[in-house]
Amino acid sequence: MAKRLEGRSGIITGGASGIGKAIAMRFAAEGAAIVVADIHEKRGAEIVAEIEKTGGRAVFANVDVRRSEDCERVVALAVARFGKLDIMVNNAGIGRGAAIAELLEEDWDAVLAVNLKGVYLGSKFAFRAMARNGGVILNMASVAGIIAAPGFAAYGAAKAGVIHLTKITALEGAAFNIRANALCPTWIDTPLLEAALQRHPDLVAGKQEMAAGIPLGRIGQPEDVASAALYLASDDAAFITGVAFPVDGGTTVGAFGSAPRRRPARRKQDDE
Ligand code: NAD
Repeated sequence: MAKRLEGRSGIITGGASGIGKAIAMRFAAEGAAIVVADIHEKRGAEIVAEIEKTGGRAVFANVDVRRSEDCERVVALAVARFGKLDIMVNNAGIGRGAAIAELLEEDWDAVLAVNLKGVYLGSKFAFRAMARNGGVILNMASVAGIIAAPGFAAYGAAKAGVIHLTKITALEGAAFNIRANALCPTWIDTPLLEAALQRHPDLVAGKQEMAAGIPLGRIGQPEDVASAALYLASDDAAFITGVAFPVDGGTTVGAFGSAPRRRPARRKQDDE
């Protein structure tokens, strides 16, 4: 079967862990040449080695998405190495939660700097590189950017900002054949999720509690998000731009935190 991203090149920020890693591996398996862009050099280099071992093409770039010069440099690197940039995944993100009255100003600034400013900077330089031949920008938002949840003031505001920024990018990009879409995952099993559960006495029980609030009855896997990212990055989504695409097991369909309904027991007369 033809690979779905054959001949394409892409940058994945935050590609050294969790969702970004899964996207990098999946895109590479589908034929794309990948720049794994992250502040975590060791893990990033390991992922590049893993991709190369399976016959894929990848390179690591030490990039802090909060820094304009880093974002400009990584786009230039992709163009120099692979001839062009087709896909930009602005995925790097951090989570720091607290009730608004307790939220430290430095945590607000830190979350907004990575999760929103980083997306703006990545989009800006990618857009310039894509303006000639078109391309795809994928921004990692969250269900927390669609629905409000207590304790998510900085994170939720940043992710709502990402969704709106994505829509503006889509409108500005349309004339250049640049599509821009946002992915909105629910709880996904990554180190970021485990950090969110730091104060929970039991990690497994904490994950089960999270799963109980998701209609499909489980937390997501990074590969669930990678599948959606692949679809949006591929030509299958050629007519889709400006959407906030939930990857959430139904989290945003009803009330946030609504417990999944258990399948009703079959009544005897149903079988008769
Ligand atoms: P993760 O912690 O596993 O990975 C995040 C990666 O981003 C790490 O490799 C980290 O080194 C990198 N990073 C952090 N700051 C950076 C910076 N300034 N510059 C470059 N790289 C940086 O987290 P994850 O769960 O895979 O999260 C990835 C994205 O998905 C984030 O934007 C997050 O907000 C979003 N998200 C995660 C969940 C979840 O439940 N895990 C849910 C919804 C959205």
